[in-house]
Amino acid sequence: MLYLDHAASGPVRAEVREAMLPFLGDRFGNPSSHHTVGEDAAGALEDARRRVAAVLGMRPGDVVFTSGATEANNLAIKGVAVAALLRHGRPGHVVTTAIEHESVLASVDHLERVHGVRATRLPVDPHGIVDPAVLAGALQDDTVLVSVGYANNEIGTVQDAAALAAVTAGSRIPLHLDAVQAAGWLPLSGTGADALSLAGHKIGAPQGIGVLAVRGRVPLEPVLHGGGQERDRRSGTQNVAGAVGFALALELAERERDAASARVGPLRDAFVARVQTLVPEAVPTGHPTRRLPGTASFTFAGVSGEAVLLELERRGVVSSSGSACAAGSDEPSQVLVALGIAPEVAQTSVRFSFGHHAAGDPTRIADAVAASVAAVRSR
Ligand code: PLP
Repeated sequence: MLYLDHAASGPVRAEVREAMLPFLGDRFGNPSSHHTVGEDAAGALEDARRRVAAVLGMRPGDVVFTSGATEANNLAIKGVAVAALLRHGRPGHVVTTAIEHESVLASVDHLERVHGVRATRLPVDPHGIVDPAVLAGALQDDTVLVSVGYANNEIGTVQDAAALAAVTAGSRIPLHLDAVQAAGWLPLSGTGADALSLAGHKIGAPQGIGVLAVRGRVPLEPVLHGGGQERDRRSGTQNVAGAVGFALALELAERERDAASARVGPLRDAFVARVQTLVPEAVPTGHPTRRLPGTASFTFAGVSGEAVLLELERRGVVSSSGSACAAGSDEPSQVLVALGIAPEVAQTSVRFSFGHHAAGDPTRIADAVAASVAAVRSR
C-alpha cells in the first residue's frame, strides 16, 4: 500500500514509541503527586516541555500540553478572547481567515454565538494566500486576536508568517498560528507568532497529544477547569508518555526538516507534473511554489473525488478528499470554495500528502491516479 495521507495522521516513529514505553510501564506516576513516583513523572514532563520550548524558541513555561491541536486551537482562540472580555468587560473582535481548520472556525463561531465577540474571516487569493495589507485593514481598535493557519491542511499553501506578524506586532495584537501542518517542513522558531498550535500525530508522535505554545505575556483564560495543571492553563492529569513522545518527535522532525523538504519536494513535483501530463483537466490547487513540500491537491473535472479515492485504494494508493474531518460529508470543501472554486468543482478534489519518509515511485502513484480518474470518468 502507498500511504499518501500524512496530513491526516502518520505512523508513530519507532524511536518515539521506544521513548514512551517506560511511561506506559513502570514510570506511571501522576506528575502532580508529591512522592518519588510522581516526581519521576513530573521530571520527565518538564524535560519534555523544555525540549519542545527549545525547538520553538520559546520558554518552557510557554508550553501547554493538550490532547491535540483541536484543543490547542480552542484554548488559543477562546482563551485569549475570553480573557480580553473579562479584562475589558466587553467582547472584542477576532480575526481569522476563511480557510482555517474546523477547530479554528468552530471556536470563532462559538465566541460569536455565546460571548457576542465580533469576527472577521479574511478572504484569501485564488492560491490561498492571506494578504498582509488586507489583514492590516481588518484590524479594529478592539481586535484581541489574529489566528491564521501557517500552512493549509487541504491545499498546502504556506502563509508569509513574518509579514503577518509584522502587522500584528505593530498593533500589539497577539498572533496565533495553527502550525499543525507546518511542523517538520517549515521553521517553527522566529515566526514572530505569540502562540502556536501543534499536533503529535502529524510529526511521528501518537494521536491525542498536542501543544499550545503561548508567550507568557498573552493573557489566557482556561477552557478546561479543574486541578490547575499546566500553570492553570489546562487542567487535567497530563499525558506524560504522550508529552515525552511529542518532544522527541518534534526534535526529530526539526532535525530532518531541511533534508526531508529537499527530498520530498522534488518527488511531489514529479508526481504533480506526471498527473498533469496524464490526466486531462487535472488542476492543481493551492499556491504553485509557496506550499508544503509534501502536499499535492487537484480537482479533476467531472468526477466525484470520493469515487476517485475508492478507485485509488483498489490500486493500492490511500489518499483523501481534503480534510479528514470533513471527509465523508457531502458538503464541498469550504477551503476550496473560499479560493473561488465552484462548489461542484470542489467536490472533485483529491489531496495527496507525503510524509518525511515517503517512499514510493511518483510515476507509479501518478499512473494509479490517471487510471482511477479514467475509470470514474468512463462510467
Ligand atoms: N489544525 C490543522 C491545520 C489540522 O490539519 C488538524 C488535523 O487534524 C488540526 C488542527 C486538529 O488536530 P487534532 O487532530 O490533533 O485535533
